[in-house]
Order: sequence, then C-alpha cells, then structure tokens
Amino acid sequence: MLALRICDLGVRIEGSELELRIKQVYEELAARGVTLRPDCYLGDEWFSPAGVPAIAIPFYLAHPRLKTLELHQMLEVEGGTAEWCQRLLRHECGHAIDHGYRISSHRQWQKIFGSPDADYTPETYRPRPYSRSFVRHLANWYAQAHPDEDFAETFAVWLATPPEEWRERYRGWKALEKLEYVHALMQEVAVSPPAVKRRHRISEARKLRKTLGRYYAARRKLYAEDFPDFYDADLRAIFRDGEPGGETAARLMRKNREALVASIVQWTGQPKYTVSMLVRKLILRCQELKLPAPFDHARLHFELAAYLASLVTNHLHTGRFKRSV
Ligand SMILES: [Zn+2]
Repeated sequence: MLALRICDLGVRIEGSELELRIKQVYEELAARGVTLRPDCYLGDEWFSPAGVPAIAIPFYLAHPRLKTLELHQMLEVEGGTAEWCQRLLRHECGHAIDHGYRISSHRQWQKIFGSPDADYTPETYRPRPYSRSFVRHLANWYAQAHPDEDFAETFAVWLATPPEEWRERYRGWKALEKLEYVHALMQEVAVSPPAVKRRHRISEARKLRKTLGRYYAARRKLYAEDFPDFYDADLRAIFRDGEPGGETAARLMRKNREALVASIVQWTGQPKYTVSMLVRKLILRCQELKLPAPFDHARLHFELAAYLASLVTNHLHTGRFKRSV
C-alpha cells in the first residue's frame, strides 16, 4: 500500500464518514446564523488555506483502510473519532470564516486577539496553562499559539455551544470578552455572503503525486522530537533497588509500554508518536545500561510514569509545542 501515490487512491468525501460530520458543522453554522459554508476538501493534513474560506481535511480520514494505516504509521489518528473530528472542523471553520470575511483586518479584532501578522515565524509557542484569557477547546492550550488560533478556538467554542452555556462556563474569565465579541461580530458580519469567494484548494489529495511511503517518512521525521540525552542518572535512580539476576528494567518497561504511553499522551496532550519514540529510546538505554528491575513493581510504575510525564512536559514547556492545525 505504501507504494501507492496519494492521487491514485481515489478517496472522496462523498460516501465517507466525513460527509455526515461536515453536514453537522454546516447545520451548526446555520443554527448560529452564519451564511458561509466553507469549501471542504481532502488535503494532506488539517488546515485552512491562507486567504481562502476552505477547510482541508486529511485524506486518510476518508477511508477505513487509510485510517488503519495512519494508526500504524503515526500510532493515532488525528480527528479519527466523531468528537475529535467535530472539534477540528469547528476550529478550521473559524479560520475559514476569518478568511471569507477578512475579519482579522478589523481594528477591534486586533485589539482583542492581537496582530495576525505578529510572530509568524516561530513554529512553537509557550503556553501558560492557568491563563483565563483564553478558551479551552483543542489540547495544549492551543488558543495561546497565535492570535489567529485564539480566534479560531474562540469561534469553535462559540459555534459548539449555545450562548447560555459558554457564558456559564467562562463566567469570570477574561476569555468571555472574546466570546462576546465573536458573538456580536457574527450577528453583524456573517449574516451576509462572504466578501471572499476564492475556491483555491492547496495540497488537494487528488493532485498529490507522492507515495504514501514518502508521505509517512516525512511526517514521522517531523514528529520525532529531539529529547536531550541525559537520562542515565535518572534511570539509575529509578531502578536503584534492582535485584541482580531478576527481571530486567527494559523487559518490564516493554511489558507496560502501551499503558505507560497512553497515560502520558492523555495528560501531556502530545502526539502518541512523539511519546512512544521517547519511551522506546529509554527502554533501549535501560537495556544498554543492563539495569535490573526492583521487586516493588507498583512503586516503580508510579515513578516511571511521573518521570516520563515531567520529562515530556518540561521539554515542551521550554517552547516546544508545535503549531499544527
Ligand atoms: Zn488553527
């Protein structure tokens, strides 16, 4: 399958599970009085092309076999469940609405969200997890990534829930001002047809000539985080009570790898591929150091999980969250 070119896959939105998900978001837009229906098409990842009121949805979501391949290659499927897919669609809808009505050029928009041209180069951001100035919608405090993302996230919350619900949920938060602004702005702007009607489709799947093999090689490279290589002392401390001749640390970690990776992914919000590579690296290091496993497995599991979660979090909080959707 990896030898196939993406353009030859013949995948379509029509007849796939995406058809219903898009319909649902269109219905939400109608319910909130928004006239624009973003042009949804299959692309190589989740995004809204700059200046175009459109949404690119990764092509692998359009077929169960491609979803399985994505799972094998990247260990998780972004937007693979109905709930996750709706969240991403609403987020991209925010960008598409901005592109269609050019609202980020409004003075008031920039006063509230910041300049959309600011800070475009860094691919990473440093969130403040406890900030109440931003809504919470996607993982990793994504609204803090950039003014455009802040708007898209605020829009997504506004679209997903009726006003009484978000007013209750964000009561006392500074983010409520942003929601109220979006609420007023949409009644004013989005009730008429959009100014921009371009239908330019960037990275459309049916035109991508690269093979699935090359596509995955590139994405795996992008997700492979370069964690620093200073684990030896930590690993020795964690496995300090090891019984020589007993089970090895590497074997024990390998046995619990799935559960370990799953809980770290859940609580750090990081891509499963990134976390899994880190754990794999640590297992190899344990093997090279020939560390034995201690008898008290329960304590060991807690310690390992806490250690790995802090490793991932500390590393990422030094400005390594990647902007992606
Ligand atoms: Zn975005």
